[in-house]
Amino acid sequence: EMFGQLTSGLESAWNKLKGEEVLTKENIVEPMRDIRRALLEADVSLPVVRRFVQAVSDQAVGVGLIRGVKPDQQLVKIVHDELVKLMGGEVSDLVFAKSGPTVILLAGLQGVGKTTVSAKLAYYLKKQGKSCMLVAGDVYRPAAIDQLVILGEQVGVPVYTAGTEIKPSEIARQGLNEAKKKNIDVVVVDTAGRLQIDKAMMDELKDVKRVLNPTEVLLVVDAMTGQEAAALVTTFNIEIGITGAILTKLDGDSRGGAALSVKEVSGKPIKLVGRGERMEDLEPFYPDRMAGRILGMGDVLSFVEKAQEVMQQEDAEELQKKIMSAKFDFNDFLKQTRAVARMGSMTRVIGMIPGMGKITPAQVREAEKSLKIMEAMIEAMTPEEREKPELLAESPTRRKRIAQESGKTEQQVSQLVAQLFQMRVRMKNLMGVMEGGSIPALSN
Ligand code: GDP
Repeated sequence: EMFGQLTSGLESAWNKLKGEEVLTKENIVEPMRDIRRALLEADVSLPVVRRFVQAVSDQAVGVGLIRGVKPDQQLVKIVHDELVKLMGGEVSDLVFAKSGPTVILLAGLQGVGKTTVSAKLAYYLKKQGKSCMLVAGDVYRPAAIDQLVILGEQVGVPVYTAGTEIKPSEIARQGLNEAKKKNIDVVVVDTAGRLQIDKAMMDELKDVKRVLNPTEVLLVVDAMTGQEAAALVTTFNIEIGITGAILTKLDGDSRGGAALSVKEVSGKPIKLVGRGERMEDLEPFYPDRMAGRILGMGDVLSFVEKAQEVMQQEDAEELQKKIMSAKFDFNDFLKQTRAVARMGSMTRVIGMIPGMGKITPAQVREAEKSLKIMEAMIEAMTPEEREKPELLAESPTRRKRIAQESGKTEQQVSQLVAQLFQMRVRMKNLMGVMEGGSIPALSN
C-alpha cells in the first residue's frame, strides 16, 4: 500500500479523538503530536511539518463543529484539505507551445528513472493524439541511448540519436531541427544525469536549455529519496530554472516525504508521477486524489462535505430569518465573517467559484488578519453584549473594557460596532426589506 506507514500513523491521531464531543485546544494536543510524528517519519521536511501542524491546529479549534460530524471525522477533513493545499491544490497541467513544436527538457540525477520517463512521457502524449519525438542527449552513457531507442520502438515514437561524440547542446539543436522539419508536436529531450550535482552538469544543462528554449523543463526525482527530492528541485530551479517535477517510483515503498514536500519547499509543482515500470505507468499528479489515498477515508470525507453543505444551507436560512427581524448580532457576525474567510482560503485551493477566482493570496491574508482582530474583540464581549450590540453602541465604558481585554484600541472597537449596524442595514436593503434598521450613533 502506497504511503501505508503514513496512513497508519495518521490513523492513531483520529483514534485518540474517539468518544470526544468537541475539538478543543487540549484534546487535539495528542492527535497533533501523532500527526507531526507521522509526517516526520514519512520524511517530510521539518519546516513543512511545523507549518502544516500549525495550520491544522488553528483550524481544528477555530472552526465550529459541523452538526452530526464527530470530532475525529472533522479532523480528518481538515487534514485532508491542508494536505491538498500543501501539494499545490490543483493539478498542474503540462504547458504546450502556441506555435512550433513544444519542447520538454528532462533533467535529473542518474538512476532516478529519467530515460524510462522520457519514453513514458512520449507514450502519454501520443495517446493524447500528439506526434512525438525523443532526443537522446545522454552522451555519457551509451547504454542510455540504446535503452531509449528500444523504448522508443516499444511505444512507436521516433528517437533522434547522434552518438556520444558531440556536445549535448549540439544534439539538442539537431534534434529540434529534425522535429521542425517533420512537423512534430512535442519533442522530449533526455539529458545526461550524474551521480550527484556538479558544475559541469549544470553548465551543460544551461547550454542545452539556451539552444532549445523549452516550454517545459522538468526535473525527474525519485520518490524514495524523500525530502531530498524537494531539495534537489529547489537547487535545479535556482541553477537552471525549471517548470516542475516528475516524481518516479511512487509504486515502491516510498514514505511520502517527496510528494508532500516538493511544492512547499521549492515552489514548483509536481506535474506527473511514475507508478511502475510499464510504459503506461505515468499519470498527472492530482493533489486531492493523493491526499485521499494517504488518508484512505474517502467515505468519511464525502460524509463531512455533505454535512457541511447541509449546515451551510441551514445557517443561511437562519441568518436570513435573523436579518429579517433585525436580530443579526455579533455571534452571527462572527459566523458570517469566518465563513467568508474560509471561502477565501478555499478559493486559493479551488479557484473555481465564479467571480471569486480573482481573489489574490494577499487579499486572503488581509481578510484572515482582520478576522483575527475581530475575533479577539468579539471574544472579549459578554454573551449578552454579543446578542445585544445596542449595549455596546450605548456604552463607551463597555467598549473601553473590550478594547483593554482584547488588546485593541477603543477606536477599533467602535469601528467593529458601527460595522455590525452597517451590515444590518446593508443586508436588509439587500433583501429588499426596508423597515427600520437605522444606524444608531455611538454615544460618547
Ligand atoms: P535514469 O538513469 O534516470 O535514466 O534511470 P532509468 O530510466 O534507467 O531507470 C532506472 C531504474 O528505475 C530502471 O530499472 C527502471 O525500470 C526503474 N524505474 C523507473 N521509473 C520507475 C517507476 O516509476 N517505478 C518503478 N518501480 N521503477 C521505475
